[in-house]
Amino acid sequence: MLDADFFRRWMTAAAASVDREAERLTALDSPIGDADHGSNLQRGFRAVTDALAKEPPATPGAVLTQAGRLLISTVGGASGPLYGTLLRRTGKALGDAAEVDAGQLAEALRAGVDAVRQLGGAAPGDKTMIDALVPAVEALGDSFAAARAAAEEGAVATTPLQARKGRASYLGERSIGHQDPGATSAALLIAALVDASAE
Ligand code: ADP
Ligand code: MG
Ligand code: MG
Repeated sequence: MLDADFFRRWMTAAAASVDREAERLTALDSPIGDADHGSNLQRGFRAVTDALAKEPPATPGAVLTQAGRLLISTVGGASGPLYGTLLRRTGKALGDAAEVDAGQLAEALRAGVDAVRQLGGAAPGDKTMIDALVPAVEALGDSFAAARAAAEEGAVATTPLQARKGRASYLGERSIGHQDPGATSAALLIAALVDASAE
């Protein structure tokens, strides 16, 4: 079973991973964006870990809704509202249970990804974070490690795609040949589930 402490470790591991990879995320956002994705997420996840250190919420759902709220309020850029919605909607779907199982998390995350699709209007293949999140949710029923592999594969598979949503879409065909920064950070977020369960 996954308790509030697991979800706190998930967010903390995600923040550490964003810190480690911030330069790479910003570099990916340079040719097809405005070179701020790493710093955007660093600012957001720092706010998340600061809040968790001060007063950790008591339930899995509350950890994620608080994290989502903070991402929305601190991340400038498209990714803030999108990741914020992902975590808020996932947290809301978990309700106020003290512990949830992996199947419930997979189901909740599916609701979160659906909310991101509604908010941003992106479908799989549009070269966005959705391309990592959708396969991750599909694989999450098997294991966190399977979800991590699926998300990473999904992120890598954005390279040959032409962007149809977000800033990169302004480039048209010139967006082809670059890995999407948001799909790359989404894979980090999913990989952090493995870190959280290994601790
Ligand atoms: P901005 O483009 O405002 O500078 P970021 O650089 O932080 O924001 O985030 C860019 C990432 O956000 C993209 O790589 C893409 O994965 C994701 N993104 C942008 N627009 C959308 C959308 N409509 N739906 C889903 N994801 C999106
Ligand atoms: Mg950007
Ligand atoms: Mg920006």
